[in-house]
Amino acid sequence: MIGFTLSQEQESLRQLAREFARKEIAPHAAHHDATGEFPREVCRKAWELGLMNTHVPEELGGLGLGVFEGCLINEELAAGCSGISTAMEANTLASAPVLVGGSDEQKKTWLAPLLEELRFAAYCVTEPNAGSDVQGIRTRAVRKGDAYVLNGEKMWITNGSVADWYFVVAYTDPSAGTKGMSAFIVPRETDGIEVGKKERNMGQRASDTRAITFRDVVVPAGHRIGEEGQGWLLAMKAFDRTRPTVSAGAVGVGRAAMEHAIRYAQERSTFGKPIAEHQAVAFMIADMAKDLEASRLLVWKSAWLVDNGHPNTQFASYAKAMAADTCMRVTTDAVQIFGGYGYNTEYPVEKLMRDAKVFQIYEGTSQIQRLIIAKSILSRGGPTS
Ligand SMILES: Cc1cc2nc3c(=O)[nH]c(=O)nc-3n(C[C@H](O)[C@H](O)[C@H](O)COP(=O)(O)OP(=O)(O)OC[C@H]3O[C@@H](n4cnc5c(N)ncnc54)[C@H](O)[C@@H]3O)c2cc1C
Repeated sequence: MIGFTLSQEQESLRQLAREFARKEIAPHAAHHDATGEFPREVCRKAWELGLMNTHVPEELGGLGLGVFEGCLINEELAAGCSGISTAMEANTLASAPVLVGGSDEQKKTWLAPLLEELRFAAYCVTEPNAGSDVQGIRTRAVRKGDAYVLNGEKMWITNGSVADWYFVVAYTDPSAGTKGMSAFIVPRETDGIEVGKKERNMGQRASDTRAITFRDVVVPAGHRIGEEGQGWLLAMKAFDRTRPTVSAGAVGVGRAAMEHAIRYAQERSTFGKPIAEHQAVAFMIADMAKDLEASRLLVWKSAWLVDNGHPNTQFASYAKAMAADTCMRVTTDAVQIFGGYGYNTEYPVEKLMRDAKVFQIYEGTSQIQRLIIAKSILSRGGPTS
């Protein structure tokens, strides 16, 4: 049985997020883009409405919503400003390995407080010398009695300066490759943590991206998530839950650009008629609409699969590559449709084009998604449906 109709609850949630994005995010987007100021107050309002941390299980007092509902929300929030929605969504990314591999006690310790007041968390895997090639990380965690001592440097960490705790992957046995990595939760106030400067990025400037350095940071053994050697697996399994949501954000940014382009193409005239009536422009809009719809369908399927207990790694990569590449193309074409005005900061589409780019980079680049898809297909002898 196949159905594409949202339940009443899902539709209400989507409307709530859409209204919030329109009233509370979009009006502040240009300010945070220009200043790079962290959007704490916008996040606070989203948090109060229950639009953040929707993944926290019901038994901990959370909404316990699925990845699918997270996607519905994130498409809307990102349509308002993806720098702001990324700040909110980084909590989902940091929490995902805890949800996947944490004990009940650990879930209570790290996830429940996200509901008590506005708090942030961060996912620390990437390092200056290792992004796509996670095996190349150098951070070490050495067991000393009842604790581990962490040393290393993480890079490009979203929510780096505002997080209350970090999910960190480090080698406990460097000779064992990916099976020699372990995962830890490190509270922000622990001695030996140094937070770098806010990075000046091309887009999504509301989001806080930093280097985080760990120098002889002592982490109790009870803060290890999963067994020793499971760090890489947990970090990757987290992506099965978060790539659909990030991809939904890319659909949201693309949709916002398309809506601006449609309006502008109907208002702007050249050669005696609205530019929308020139077929070259109309076809750009047609491509935007069909490719965004296809992206959304992949997002929904990849989310549905994981929510229903099916493997979704390959579909999460389909969704991520398709939505990120579509978002980049749609926002670039929107700038084209606006002509000279598209290139100007007083019009909205240049920001959307800058914001779009990172969807092809973070949570696995578009090349890495193709690598995952190809490996999966070739090892099985053909694609699954
Ligand atoms: C704004 C921002 C926020 C981020 N937030 C976080 C965060 O919160 N936590 C975190 O841990 N990380 C985060 N990242 C890091 C991000 O996940 C990495 O930047 C990304 O995985 C790419 O790694 P890299 O930058 O080291 O590039 P590299 O891995 O060095 O890749 C460089 C280029 O080579 C290509 N490439 C590499 N290997 C292959 C291959 N085998 N085949 C084909 N092409 C290949 C890549 O696709 C890319 O185009 C963030 C990054 C940015 C920019």
